[in-house]
Amino acid sequence: MDSLPVSQKVKVTAIAGDGIGAEVMRATQQVLAAAGAAVEWEDALAGAEAFRKGIVTGAPQETLDSIERCGVALKGPLETPVGFGEKSANVTLRKIFEMYGNIRPVRELPGIRTPFSGRGIDFTVVRENVEDLYAGIEHMQTPGVAQAVKLISEAGCERIAELACALALAEGRGKVTVATKANILKQTEGLLKTVGERVVKQYPQLAHEHMIVDNCAHQMVIRPEQFDVCVMTNMNGDILSDLAAGLVGGLGVAPSANLGDSVAMFEAVHGSAPQIAGKNLANPTALLLSAVMMLRHVGQFAAAARVEHALYVTLEEGRDLTGDIAAPGTGVGTTAYVDRVIANLGRESAKVPARQYRPITMKAWPKANWCRPTTSRELVGVDIFLESASAPPALGASLQQAVAGSPFTLKLVSSRGAQVWPVAQPHTFLVDHFRARFMFSAPAQGEAQAEITDLLNRVGAQHRWMHVEKLQRFDGADAFTKDQGEG
Ligand code: NAP
Repeated sequence: MDSLPVSQKVKVTAIAGDGIGAEVMRATQQVLAAAGAAVEWEDALAGAEAFRKGIVTGAPQETLDSIERCGVALKGPLETPVGFGEKSANVTLRKIFEMYGNIRPVRELPGIRTPFSGRGIDFTVVRENVEDLYAGIEHMQTPGVAQAVKLISEAGCERIAELACALALAEGRGKVTVATKANILKQTEGLLKTVGERVVKQYPQLAHEHMIVDNCAHQMVIRPEQFDVCVMTNMNGDILSDLAAGLVGGLGVAPSANLGDSVAMFEAVHGSAPQIAGKNLANPTALLLSAVMMLRHVGQFAAAARVEHALYVTLEEGRDLTGDIAAPGTGVGTTAYVDRVIANLGRESAKVPARQYRPITMKAWPKANWCRPTTSRELVGVDIFLESASAPPALGASLQQAVAGSPFTLKLVSSRGAQVWPVAQPHTFLVDHFRARFMFSAPAQGEAQAEITDLLNRVGAQHRWMHVEKLQRFDGADAFTKDQGEG
């Protein structure tokens, strides 16, 4: 056992959180103490109580200071009470500390019966945690049309792909699956496909594959045992990691880690379960398994293994389990379950996968702005998004007339990605939101600031526009997608 003197104890911020948080946190701390984990806890507040105290982020400065100081946090579920603040305190913490990697192990647990029991499911979903649609940049474009910006950076893809490989190596795994929607979203999801494949190929000891993410969802249900490490963008990873948790017993037993360059936060996947809070009914397994991940993160491998084995033995034997996972009529309270796990410390389960864990070696990333150098840039046109109730033929004619005599020609008008001018399909449903694509008739000079301003004035004289996008080419390749039907 790695039993360290008190002076070498690792300081960990403990955020009990809301609802059942206090009960599952207490249970976890008791098991870790009994297992000889060298941890000194710093209790900190976040969630509903913080919101009620008027802290709009749901995370007081003292909590942020504690996380910064310790670099490691164990967190219970946090509620965003209705009427307090707009943003979840969970998302805030992930963003403030740039915890860009969300790690969700998906492993069959003994004694937890599911339709997939016996299949040997044992993989990890690595989800990008700070970019994508969850950057939360949303605008109503018209009173009835909403838009969210899906922001994906090459650096973000590189970081998450490197983390997936580092995790695979640390856990002795052999394959990384890059799952994306690159077939449709060529620029955004395509970036993770290209960069992910490039990164994984640098690790010859790892097999790699690309899978379209919807097929990945299908494969996870049909043949989940084929997966080892799967890496995905934020929203795909959010959805598929919950699906994956469902294969092995659900959110109540699913652990997770949020990893960044300087801070790591471990948490159960489930929420605050307010209906059972304070009733000694909560199952602490998910937070306990998160704490096992935390112990490995801080290098306490022996203590992690002791807790994991005791938990597995308890589940395997099926005595004194909480009601959510016990055989009907045999459920006990949180405290009795914890007593049983503690009593089983020191016993070994043959069901724990034999794996040589090593610390995850996370690549160091520069603090300076990440910039991708280019050898050439061209500006070839401008997309203007506008609100109009006109029929496409009339809209097209008016836009053509607006740019007559300017350096631009109107190439097309589309409605939610479907061309409606000059060619339209009879079935396209129209709303009041259009994109007009203007191309430079002759190569643009520099940033063509004056020409674009003049174009906006011309279009704006007749139509309400809300958003402009430059059409660029980087290193000779189009940096924009074409519309359906666009030549
Ligand atoms: P939830 O809290 O996960 O609870 C859903 C149901 O799952 C519970 O009612 C309970 O079922 C069962 N359950 C969850 N965890 C359990 C455990 N440890 N032991 C036993 N049963 C457990 O989901 P929710 O009701 O959608 O969310 C409640 C609040 O939590 C919301 O405010 C939400 O925003 C927040 N939340 C926070 C996090 C986080 O902090 N990471 C994550 C998700 C949700 P029974 O009722 O059948 O007993």
